[in-house]
Amino acid sequence: MGTAVVHYGAAAVTDRGLKRPSNEDAFGYSVEHGVYLVCDGMGGAAAGEIASSLAVREMMRLLTDRSPEARLPHAAEQAVAAANEAIYSRAQRSQKLSGMGTTLVALLVENSHAWMFNVGDSRGYRLRNGHLQQITLDHSLVEEQVRMGQMDRHEADRSPFKNVITRALGTQGLVTPDVFELEIEPGDLFLLCSDGLTRELSDPLIESLLRIDVPLQDLCGRLVAAAKNAGGNDNITSLLVQAGA
Ligand code: CA
Repeated sequence: MGTAVVHYGAAAVTDRGLKRPSNEDAFGYSVEHGVYLVCDGMGGAAAGEIASSLAVREMMRLLTDRSPEARLPHAAEQAVAAANEAIYSRAQRSQKLSGMGTTLVALLVENSHAWMFNVGDSRGYRLRNGHLQQITLDHSLVEEQVRMGQMDRHEADRSPFKNVITRALGTQGLVTPDVFELEIEPGDLFLLCSDGLTRELSDPLIESLLRIDVPLQDLCGRLVAAAKNAGGNDNITSLLVQAGA
């Protein structure tokens, strides 16, 4: 790619799903600033919604307002720390919000360079040349046991602990995100999503849906509709980012 400027398009859909009374997922993006986020809140009642929306608001505010000299991955690290602190201190001030937190998966783009930040079990994928690859690694008890060879995929899918995440934004004073550095090629399609999508749809099914040639907004809608058809047991969020040729 060299120094060629890559143009991006994006779209997102979030949906309560069929079983949950409210939507604790949140997303935000700015194509102009190269910032794309999905958060999945937890903590019960209103707390999950507050945690995920606070994270999106803080991250968007800090990253769309960053100085032109700020290096993106560094600015993003600071924004993650600030969002973590905002949720943590809010939770400390209210008994009802105690323990609230949120996942975060973020794609940050600067021309043909990108970084994916991850905390929790929301996921980032890339479709390149029709092939889907998961970029992030879930911070969940069972996925970590699978990676260490202590549990197989079948056991993981049936585990009563599959909801347990091992890292979240806002539940502790400090958080360390995973950071994945990426080189973008024209035509790359990135998917950021909450577990309400990936619990319902297998990776091969997500791959086949992403290969359908329709506008991004329609594609987001199709992913969410497929997850609802498959059960819709949780809130569902799908955010797509396409690198133009
Ligand atoms: Ca969820």
